[in-house]
Amino acid sequence: MAQAQIRRAIESGVPDHVPYLHPKLAKNYGNWKYHDRPRPGVLHHVSHSGDEVWTVRAGTQRQMDVYTIRTLCDIADQFAEGHVRFTIRSNIEFMVSTEAKVAPLIAALGKHGFPVGGTGNSISMIAHTQGWLHCDIPGTDASGVVKSLMDELHEEFIREEMPNRVHLSTSCCEINCGGQADIAIVMQHTKPPVINHELVANVCERPTVVARCPVAAIRPAMVNGKPSLEVDETKCMCCGACYPPCPPMQINDPEHSKIAIWVGGKNANARGKPTFMKLVAAGLPNNPPRWTEVAVVVKKVLRVYKDDARPWERVADWIERIGWPRFFEKTDLPFTKYLIDDWKGARANLNASTHIRF
Ligand code: SF4
Ligand code: SF4
Repeated sequence: MAQAQIRRAIESGVPDHVPYLHPKLAKNYGNWKYHDRPRPGVLHHVSHSGDEVWTVRAGTQRQMDVYTIRTLCDIADQFAEGHVRFTIRSNIEFMVSTEAKVAPLIAALGKHGFPVGGTGNSISMIAHTQGWLHCDIPGTDASGVVKSLMDELHEEFIREEMPNRVHLSTSCCEINCGGQADIAIVMQHTKPPVINHELVANVCERPTVVARCPVAAIRPAMVNGKPSLEVDETKCMCCGACYPPCPPMQINDPEHSKIAIWVGGKNANARGKPTFMKLVAAGLPNNPPRWTEVAVVVKKVLRVYKDDARPWERVADWIERIGWPRFFEKTDLPFTKYLIDDWKGARANLNASTHIRF
């Protein structure tokens, strides 16, 4: 009798990174004695075994064509030792095992337009969502915001002159994969979705859409004799959560989809607790290709933080010390009652789980 075939699980997650490590990193994994930074953009790690590794960190334009990636790979082959990695903030890092290789590597990166920096108390590359290329619900091109803003913040990327490290992020919708950051640039919808009733019956599973709304603003309705949906606009908070399961509930709008700025978020436990960021500017135009109005506000907050914060204060620590009224005074941002929302009831009241409730 033929032996029953054994069915094996198909692994489809992230591949094991160990085979791709630089040999010296693999050899000394978990065995580092200390590290320092000989200059901005360069990390120097020393192992208990005596091995040393220099890591050169560079910024890129983030969305890269294949020619740019080949250029970076050529630099890795010619001036580094054939290994690169990307940080979570999308910096690219080249590892070399002798100090003599550092300067030619930096020169090669500079020649091709890749600035070296992003370490220590600099403004590192902006972590961002990439929905414009692959997601179904983006309202802006977060990568474009990154490129235009980092062009303006270049001097702070290549130096380490901020009070502490500064992490920025951008998100191309307001409900999903954005993260906490010292300063976050987040898509913001300001009008309820507009329903295309002709399409709803063909495209959407209405119970799914109804359950998706965190404030129960969507109801089933018959429109022109066809099953459709209606939105109670007095309840709708314009979050955009109904748009992914039901694209005919279009919420993106060239005029009313805006950008908001949040400050004071922190993911790490280092030196202080993680903090949630708070809204400090809303209704900025979603204005490609340079998003100038967004850049003005971000640079204003950064300038005041750099001048006013004490050494090693993160943005949240600085605001905690001076208080929100003085934050708005010093940054000259207009304050309204809709800003710095600290409503504690959200966890119990909003539909924060994946369970469908009726
Ligand atoms: S932030 Fe929103 S639109 Fe952008 S990639 Fe994440 S889920 Fe998609
Ligand atoms: S935008 Fe958000 S609050 Fe408004 S109807 Fe859609 S899911 Fe509900």
